[in-house]
Amino acid sequence: MEVTSAFKRRGLLFVLSSPSGAGKSTIARMLMASDDGIAMSVSATTRPMRPGELAGRDYHFVSTERFEEMVAAGEFLEWAHVFGHRYGTLKREVRQTIEGGRDVLLDIDWQGTQQLKQVDPDIVRVFILPPSMEELERRLRNRGTDSEDVIARRMERAAAEISHWAEYDYVLINNNAEKCRELVHNILKAERLKATRRVFLHDFVRELIG
Ligand code: 5GP
Repeated sequence: MEVTSAFKRRGLLFVLSSPSGAGKSTIARMLMASDDGIAMSVSATTRPMRPGELAGRDYHFVSTERFEEMVAAGEFLEWAHVFGHRYGTLKREVRQTIEGGRDVLLDIDWQGTQQLKQVDPDIVRVFILPPSMEELERRLRNRGTDSEDVIARRMERAAAEISHWAEYDYVLINNNAEKCRELVHNILKAERLKATRRVFLHDFVRELIG
């Protein structure tokens, strides 16, 4: 993928997917707090802003017309319809982070993950499962933001998202956020050490062995 080719260590595209309520955003936040080398890609979406969200931090909130213009202009690495709204990963977000020498954390759904895999086969895909559907529903209810109707639809959508778990490279069960964060961090650290991502070591090794 051309956005990463000019740099020494190929920056990673690190995908986290899960149904909503499985704790993915918490784990993403904890991961970034414990590792300076990775930053979140802020997606564009047509869904309305929720209380507590900030434009530019949580999402770039845009109108459907603007989103369509951006699609036509080729501004997205991938985009998909989720819950009746559009969501997309901006090429410029990914490029900026990689150029800054950091890995990119992408919180995207299975559709976006499939598209991204086509663009860059080297991505790392992690899926987070809830411990049970009962626990997932309890977490969705505890948010206190959604109506019964919305919760029922989110549960249906969760089952659909979960059915794609085997398309991922790694799968974890989120019984405990800190343990899950640690495991995700271990995956990230191991992936960074892969020989295929450390071709810049050729010069060093040449000196080492003469
Ligand atoms: P929410 O509206 O709750 O923030 O996100 C709903 C779903 O959209 C989540 O599963 C999230 O992973 C997914 N999503 C967020 N941004 C993107 C994106 O840029 N592309 C795709 N394909 N999915 C996204």
